[in-house]
Amino acid sequence: MKLEKIVAGNWKMNKTPDEGVLFVNDVKNALSNLSSTSVVFSPPFTGLVDIYVEPPFHLSAQNCHWEESGAYTGEISLPILKKCGVELVILGHSERRTNFGETDEIVNKKINSTIHNNIVPILCIGESLEHRKNGETESILESQLKNSLKGISGLREIIVAYEPIWAIGSGLVASNQQIQNAHEFINEVLQKLFDEKLKISVLYGGSVKPKNAESLINIKGVDGFLIGGASLNAESFISIIKIVEKS
Ligand code: PEP
Repeated sequence: MKLEKIVAGNWKMNKTPDEGVLFVNDVKNALSNLSSTSVVFSPPFTGLVDIYVEPPFHLSAQNCHWEESGAYTGEISLPILKKCGVELVILGHSERRTNFGETDEIVNKKINSTIHNNIVPILCIGESLEHRKNGETESILESQLKNSLKGISGLREIIVAYEPIWAIGSGLVASNQQIQNAHEFINEVLQKLFDEKLKISVLYGGSVKPKNAESLINIKGVDGFLIGGASLNAESFISIIKIVEKS
């Protein structure tokens, strides 16, 4: 990502290929002059094929397998995704961790594969409400980062999305102080793990909407957003991107 801020939309299991193309065209047409914000679209796999974008717009997958090819029914590899124009992949989203048993160890294998395929990982990490109440937020974030990135070398760019699980799709948003603390902590851990050549962006995710985007993007250490619900509606997605661009 060349530009300093990033707004990534995660469509999850929404939008047919046709709907995706129309949506992306609407967003591109409304935002012809972005100079500081990269925009990432993450359609379902079927939607990746017909969407053509160029910077500052980018295409991301929502998941991948770590092997390059083979007998893995129902899975998709990074070389295949690359052929569809994919430049990034979301890994370790809490919905994949909770519903599909994705562990840090699995995420680690997938990150290894991104390096060989020159794909930028968007690594999602975040604490549950119980972790937060028990004062375990930092230890959870640290173990997710360390285990997902164990033994990784050759990584040139990583996007970490800090997504408190209790804020995803719930309408609840972490406080500005909670977000600032988490982002500072994530940066500290990453800087200890890697040398200064690694390009790190830390996004916030969790009920980002047009009404709270301005306050959230001005928090120290927030380099942009990963957005679920509000990324499905062109008007709200465009409005958030404009707020980020102006900040
Ligand atoms: C997400 O799913 O990553 C997310 C942040 O969702 P929402 O914006 O709907 O809370």
